[in-house]
Amino acid sequence: MTHVFYRQLTRDYPSAVLGRGITIRDATGKEYIDASGGAAVSCLGHSNPDVLAALHAQIDKLDYAHTGFFTTPAAEELADEMIRHAPAGIGHVYFTSGGSEAVEAALKLARQYFVERGELQRQHFIGRLQGYHGNTLGALSVGGNLWRRKPFAPILLENVHHVSPCYEYRGRRIDETPQRYGERLAQELSNKIDELGGGNVIAFIAETMVGATLGAVPAVPGYFKRVREICDRHGILLILDEVMCGMGRTGTLHACEQEGVTPDLLVVAKGLGGGYAPIGALMVQEKIVKTLTEGSGFFQHGHTYMGHPLACAAALAVQRVIQRDNLLTNVKAQGDHLLRRLGERFGNHPFVGDVRGRGLFQAIELVADRGTKEPFDPARKLNVRIKQEAMDRGLMVYPMGGTVDGVRGDHVLLAPPFIVDAATIDTVVERLGEAVDAAI
Ligand code: PMP
Repeated sequence: MTHVFYRQLTRDYPSAVLGRGITIRDATGKEYIDASGGAAVSCLGHSNPDVLAALHAQIDKLDYAHTGFFTTPAAEELADEMIRHAPAGIGHVYFTSGGSEAVEAALKLARQYFVERGELQRQHFIGRLQGYHGNTLGALSVGGNLWRRKPFAPILLENVHHVSPCYEYRGRRIDETPQRYGERLAQELSNKIDELGGGNVIAFIAETMVGATLGAVPAVPGYFKRVREICDRHGILLILDEVMCGMGRTGTLHACEQEGVTPDLLVVAKGLGGGYAPIGALMVQEKIVKTLTEGSGFFQHGHTYMGHPLACAAALAVQRVIQRDNLLTNVKAQGDHLLRRLGERFGNHPFVGDVRGRGLFQAIELVADRGTKEPFDPARKLNVRIKQEAMDRGLMVYPMGGTVDGVRGDHVLLAPPFIVDAATIDTVVERLGEAVDAAI
């Protein structure tokens, strides 16, 4: 009997008691390979000695100082480190306790930017169907997953509109090149903006790679460049949510580097602290901070635990280890290996329609019929069964599924820590293959 409750109101598995490297051990002594990094969180694996040392050193010095009084060396050094590697133009960092909080901060900062400029008529946000930005009310409002939104629909933000995601496997027509597909989606965004009036829109928000809802879906080449142009034409801010796909997971520190665009606001979390502390961050273009500095002088927002010294010290250590050990090289190399192995195991599988991803952010999509791409009946709860079969085999993966905006589909996301090696990847793919076959 436990008095704790999470999303699942009943307890599914024994409690986790020990984390070492890429494995987690439960209370019965059983070990699991953490091939999902939790939920694309763990990038250094568990119990990294450098991060533990940094946490100990920080707690010895200072546990907490409210940001209404002080900043701290930990927060300042982390911000310096992040800006040193940030896309050009991004000059400030606002710390939060996680991803949803950072998305909320992005939405409010975007609105306040226009308030400071006297553009009060800008009141609309545009997001994408099937996008996920978090579970707080603002983040849920800009997200486009109808299943998550449905019970709360009457209390979500009203001035939010959605356009189609870039989802090549299901979205691109057979007679269309990827480039034409990207153009068509950009046109849809442009039409939506025209409908609302370009001067009435605050921001467009998108995940650079769609994570939780669709499973490691990259945009087609050129899509985000067109999106950037359209936003610029109307003075609309571009918010890229890299909570899941950012901080090195796709092989570059920021996923948007591979798209050749810089957003006005870049949201990161998960891998920033690598699981060692709850932390997220909003990275902001200098023009936005300047507008506030020259205007009211403060951002009308804040949280008690933002910029927590322990969280910042842990995140700083995580980011330094990634740089020092050149781990993004391993993300690329092992990501290629993972994609190859997934292709070998599932490329001709009768119930796998697509294998996709970048770096250590990969997924397979399950279908009842490869030819028609007909998904499985959601009543089969394939995602729940795959998770169970994988856990039985000592493997943590991240399956999602069911019905999403009328688009049914099941996928399994893999996001192992950046320290993973080829032999572990081989074991992961082998166990996943068995779990998928057993579940279907
Ligand atoms: N944005 C994206 C893209 C995410 O994947 C998530 C979490 N899965 C969030 C925001 C919300 O982050 P958190 O759970 O830390 O609030």
